[in-house]
Amino acid sequence: MEKKNIRYFQDWKGHLAIFENIPALICSMCGEKLFSGETVDQINTTLWNTPHPTRHEEADVYQLVSG
Ligand SMILES: [Zn+2]
Repeated sequence: MEKKNIRYFQDWKGHLAIFENIPALICSMCGEKLFSGETVDQINTTLWNTPHPTRHEEADVYQLVSG
């Protein structure tokens, strides 16, 4: 596992919330991301207690192409 600061995306009340510079452990084999319990707590506390995010970003939405 490698320690990195990553962008983390989470569904929040029906839209996308982006967190920047989130400390995580990344598996070099499969890319799986692991957060400490403290980081998960901080993410949730921030979502509940921050009325206005730092800034807004547009996001592209895709659906799988069939065939
Ligand atoms: Zn793995």
